[in-house]
Amino acid sequence: MKIKTERLCDGCGKESIRKHLKKIRKKYYCKQCSVKIRKDHRKETYENSDDKERIRELNSELKNKTIFRERRKKRAEKIILNQSQPPKPKGSKKTRVDKNNCFITFQEKRDLFRILMNRGIDPEEAKERIKNLVVKQREIRKEMITQNKSEEEIKIKRQKMIENLWRY
Ligand SMILES: [Zn+2]
Repeated sequence: MKIKTERLCDGCGKESIRKHLKKIRKKYYCKQCSVKIRKDHRKETYENSDDKERIRELNSELKNKTIFRERRKKRAEKIILNQSQPPKPKGSKKTRVDKNNCFITFQEKRDLFRILMNRGIDPEEAKERIKNLVVKQREIRKEMITQNKSEEEIKIKRQKMIENLWRY
């Protein structure tokens, strides 16, 4: 009894060796046909899932935007934090700052200037703003001392002033 080793392709009808045929959805196809069917199927799936694709795109866009916003927020917070940190206890530095009645350090002035520059503020105006801040800080410090405010309260006020300058 002769074993039937050949079969017709359900696609193109060409005779092929049975083991070379691929079974797709209960039908047998030759290599060329099965490749074409898979390709068409993929295309079809892609087209049908247009909305899904779009939703996925939008979701990822939204996610990217959120990540970007979060990062920007964190960076801004970090800058504020850096600006508002009290001078690092480096020996006599604190005493010197207190003696000058000036709470903004040279480093802070430089950082503030750089921040204002980055925000597109004119150099002359940036200098003016920082100068005004120093003057105002001195005045407020004197005033707070006469009001018997604690160093802690003065420090908080100082932080707020620096934060306001850079938000402005
Ligand atoms: Zn075929």
